[in-house]
Amino acid sequence: MLSNPPLSPTFFTVPDAPRYALRHVRVPTCLTGRSDLPATTHEANLSNVDLLIDHGRIADIQPAGAMAADLGPDLDHSMILPGLIDCHTHLDKGHIWPRKPNPTGDVPGASKATSEDRNANWHAEDVRRRMEFGLMTAYAKGVVSIRTHLDSLEPQAAISFPVFKEMRAQWAGRIDLQASSIAPIDIFLTDEGRRLADIVADAGGNLGCVTRFRSLPNAPGQPEFDVAMKNMFALATERGLNLDLHVDESGDIDARTLLRVAQLAIEVGFPGRILCGHCCSLALQEDSIIEQTLAACAAARIDIVSLPTVNMYLQSRTHGVTPRWRGVTLLHEMRARGLRVAVGGDNCRDPFHAYGDHDMLDTFTQAVKIGQLDHPISDWITTATCNPADIMGLTGRGRLRSGDAADLIVLRARDYSELLSRFQADRVVLRAGTAIDTRLPDYRMLDDLMVA
Ligand SMILES: [Zn+2]
Repeated sequence: MLSNPPLSPTFFTVPDAPRYALRHVRVPTCLTGRSDLPATTHEANLSNVDLLIDHGRIADIQPAGAMAADLGPDLDHSMILPGLIDCHTHLDKGHIWPRKPNPTGDVPGASKATSEDRNANWHAEDVRRRMEFGLMTAYAKGVVSIRTHLDSLEPQAAISFPVFKEMRAQWAGRIDLQASSIAPIDIFLTDEGRRLADIVADAGGNLGCVTRFRSLPNAPGQPEFDVAMKNMFALATERGLNLDLHVDESGDIDARTLLRVAQLAIEVGFPGRILCGHCCSLALQEDSIIEQTLAACAAARIDIVSLPTVNMYLQSRTHGVTPRWRGVTLLHEMRARGLRVAVGGDNCRDPFHAYGDHDMLDTFTQAVKIGQLDHPISDWITTATCNPADIMGLTGRGRLRSGDAADLIVLRARDYSELLSRFQADRVVLRAGTAIDTRLPDYRMLDDLMVA
């Protein structure tokens, strides 16, 4: 009779040695850059390998069975992934839900609740402690790099960016942190846009906004949009910044700013890279507009990040009515066009998303199901690994290559079927080849901040 394995903090013992092997493991072939490794099926796109770790780095990857048995444990086809990367989050908003829920669960409700909470509570210590909580959680899950947006309407940018810089220094070596601004595009019609660009440049961040006006009508072709975007391109170009935008996060088919951003980037010859998040309404456009938009994005070298769990939560929501669409953008079509596409976690326990746990493995799992990124699953794991690494300009992240840091997630799952079916609570997270404590911070740590 079968019995469960004994309860243990890990399902294998990580060798206590500077040089050891993890033998008979499975890795996504697409992340190795190798064509000589024995692959499993096309559907799985996995390779059976032995992996040698030496002084905190991946020293060698060989076909399974090549390394001596005394070098380390046989993991019986357990999957290994590189540390995962989240290129679109909002660590500054995280975990305010208990004190500021979103009563309608839609975007207007989220914006209203968030701005009320921000104005009332987001002093430096409040932002710092909630950011820290998010980072502790993500670290324990095996996330190695995060880009966070920071609410940037005055006076918040001057509060949150210094906290971000402190956090980035404190977490260096554990989580690579990047920041992008977020504010309504209105501010790029005023001098506030220039002041924000200076704050962003000082922090080595990315200039970002929501491509929607707060105080002007939003319709395709309004002239103020072009003026604001061109001002933003100019401010970014002067300071050598990339752009990171919240685009068309709506089910309104008149929300077509993705196309205009791409056209303007080409028109002004913007030298930087542009990451566009959400792009929900594109999925509802006519084929000819989709075609035109994707072609323009490819020409402008625009990268895309989809936030499936948050889109599913916010889009198509009317009280008492069952949602009719999933809210996600056209990831299959974008990938087929050669665009770099990623998925991200976005909001955690705040008015834009009541749930979430900073877990990119869960985000990927849900993205596969929401976006049907399967049959074959092929190399879709790139959306949580090397694609966000490349979008963030990180080297040595998101892949499994000799010389990369041994910052790995070891799963009991042997293939994608097992990975995507069962929550991977027993994952072993290695940082520089050593297992870390994967216990999660207790929500009670934030209780004193949640008093209204
Ligand atoms: Zn976002």
